[in-house]
Amino acid sequence: MLWCGEPADLRRGRQADPGRDPVRCPWCGNPNDRVVDSRTAEDGVAIRRRRECLRCSRRFTTFERVVEVGVSVVKRDGAKEPFDRGKIVAGVMKAIKNRPVTPEQVDALAARTEERLRRKGPLVTTQEVGLEVLAQLRRLDDVAYLRFASVYKDFQELTDFERELGILLQKRELRGPAGAVSGRRNRSRNKA
Ligand SMILES: [Zn+2]
Repeated sequence: MLWCGEPADLRRGRQADPGRDPVRCPWCGNPNDRVVDSRTAEDGVAIRRRRECLRCSRRFTTFERVVEVGVSVVKRDGAKEPFDRGKIVAGVMKAIKNRPVTPEQVDALAARTEERLRRKGPLVTTQEVGLEVLAQLRRLDDVAYLRFASVYKDFQELTDFERELGILLQKRELRGPAGAVSGRRNRSRNKA
């Protein structure tokens, strides 16, 4: 919130310079202030401004940031839900169990995935999400990659998976847990 004081004299607030979009002093409600300091924050995605009220001289801070641009995921049944990076992290964390991959690497992977999906957005399919995670994961750890591929619910095209698997097996012989990629093959494709 930009201010949390009482919404005192809103009418007077409207009289301030219309081009300036006044921020009201949280202490006295006055819309006139001067900026005493301005700097980027949150890794450059926000601007933090320290302001001083021209009436009561007390100081407060405002942040200006781009409103999150929403990416929506279209599920197989056509329902949409907001993209949730946490789900990517949760899924990948399962896949990296006992693998030499750090949580920081997973966070970076999820961030990269989101960034790439954002460029495709605002609508992406669950399959695009899955494939993007897989593309990122393959660079990180082969076993985690196969585990993720085998359990990812929306990785619906078995042929895709088998093609991916074939490419990987050509690349090297797997020494990871042998059961990692089996067991999900009789899954119904139309259960959504
Ligand atoms: Zn004030």
